[in-house]
Amino acid sequence: MRIKGIASDTLIFILETSKSTAPQEFAGLLQEKDGIITEVLILPGTESSEQNAVIKLFMMPNVKAVGSIHSHPGPNHEPSQADLHMFSKTGNCHIIVGYPYDRQSWTCYDTEGNVRELQVIDEKFEDFE
Ligand code: ZN
Repeated sequence: MRIKGIASDTLIFILETSKSTAPQEFAGLLQEKDGIITEVLILPGTESSEQNAVIKLFMMPNVKAVGSIHSHPGPNHEPSQADLHMFSKTGNCHIIVGYPYDRQSWTCYDTEGNVRELQVIDEKFEDFE
């Protein structure tokens, strides 16, 4: 499935959760509907160390996800070596959020850690569940 973008509500949820969790990190898996990321599966009990958050993402092999999201406690949204390793295992759309957790405070990377475009989509979607 080609990812067209992320729903703005989902992005706002990610930014607000990252902000309220900081300086602890927050991590989750991204799920899509019709090519648009609309769901974040939050990892229970994500711990404060970057390594723990990333390792916990590895431990969810049976969850179908198009990528991942995690926050950094500082303004840097560059992937670490552990991040890059995790990117190679799950999906092709990996968001890293950094301080101050506003609409410009995130970057999306592909499996190899290259910056990729991710459109923010403002439409409202019906929930079929
Ligand atoms: Zn990281």
